[in-house]
Amino acid sequence: MTVDQDTPYHADGSIFGKARRRLSRLAHRRPIPIAPPRAMLSISFDDAPLTATNLGADILEAHGIKGTFYAAAGLSGKTEPMGTCADQEDYVRLAGRGHEIACHTYSHLDCGRASAEAARGDVERNASRFLAWGLPMPQSFAYPFGDVSPRTKSALAPEFTSLRGLHKGLIGRGTDLNQLPAVGMEGQAGEAMARSWLTRARSGSAWLILYTHDVQSQPSPWGCTPEALDRLLTDAMAMEFEILPVRDAVARLTG
Ligand SMILES: [Zn+2]
Repeated sequence: MTVDQDTPYHADGSIFGKARRRLSRLAHRRPIPIAPPRAMLSISFDDAPLTATNLGADILEAHGIKGTFYAAAGLSGKTEPMGTCADQEDYVRLAGRGHEIACHTYSHLDCGRASAEAARGDVERNASRFLAWGLPMPQSFAYPFGDVSPRTKSALAPEFTSLRGLHKGLIGRGTDLNQLPAVGMEGQAGEAMARSWLTRARSGSAWLILYTHDVQSQPSPWGCTPEALDRLLTDAMAMEFEILPVRDAVARLTG
């Protein structure tokens, strides 16, 4: 299932979907062994519309920051509700500039409802496409729609050094690398929400992952403006966060 329809696809919002995501958080855990040595921040872009890989990456680089782009190769070049998605050329250029190109399945698969075999096959297809494009094997993964079940979590966890969901939270010692939390810089309240989590992460010396989708002056409900992204990065720099791609933050916390 993809989001390339007029009406965006949503994860299962029923009580069963919510219960499944909560149950998944208790299953197949891989706790982070050590506390972050200082407050850390990662900036991520899901689905990677061109506005993220162009303008978003430029804003990061103006601050000397590298980001993580969770890409579903099956969406490349397609027009989605948040804009046209990036293609091989964009990803290769970003990787060459030190950004992380991470996995978001091939087809933007709902891993909450897929079988373990389907999820594994879709992820292998994405990795094959990355390799054919000349990209390294992806190390980080984000569940499309943040949705996951215990069976797909257990099937995908061995393939990646971290797997990220969409539930809000800070990351520290004991947090599950197989279902990391993240906070959205998306929608009208996104900037204020992200800033409040930055403050919490700073005071708790925690690691925070922020995510968005498109970066444009009239963003979709899942995106943010260039100004909001720039202000948040300026604040994070002033708060002396160590800002690094998800892959590098995981390496820092797992040795
Ligand atoms: Zn997505």
